[in-house]
Amino acid sequence: MNRHIAIYPGSFDPFTNGHLDIVRRGLEIFDTIIIAVARNSEKNSLFSIAERIDMISRLIEHDPRLKVETFDGLLVDYAVSKGARVILRGLRAVTDFEFEFQMAQMNHTVCEQVETLFMMTAPECAYLSSSIVKEVGRLNGDISQFVPPLVRDELLKKFGHN
Ligand code: ADP
Repeated sequence: MNRHIAIYPGSFDPFTNGHLDIVRRGLEIFDTIIIAVARNSEKNSLFSIAERIDMISRLIEHDPRLKVETFDGLLVDYAVSKGARVILRGLRAVTDFEFEFQMAQMNHTVCEQVETLFMMTAPECAYLSSSIVKEVGRLNGDISQFVPPLVRDELLKKFGHN
């Protein structure tokens, strides 16, 4: 099993600068990071899985160490199938902790060889979430400091603000 691949799973609806920060810092530690868009996050999402994958692909195309995929089923099974020993997650506030703790414990119980590694948010991204960005975007607020320009454009299009 390759020790240098990490899976970064999430909804990424849409991908924000907070996600980008975790990925950038993750690349200081891992050779390859697979950004894995959870298929079960399709319900109630603003962007379809295909749209999210397309945006993330465009954001990472310059970096061969990054890949984007979607996955179904158990995350640990997916990680093992990719030869990854690490699941990378970000932590923003104490409120993230309980859920993440439970998931990490469960995943480790189901599959001992896969570890969840947490990175603390950058202070400037601590308040940033996909939901808050969608909320501000919906109301035509300025979201340019929260998401990469191409995500901003796609959000504006979705909300008919362009
Ligand atoms: P999920 O629905 O799995 O929580 P998200 O797309 O909301 O998916 O988040 C994916 C991962 O990125 C999670 O580990 C989350 O904690 C982390 N994350 C999201 N926003 C930030 C941020 N601003 N700073 C650090 N980590 C973040």
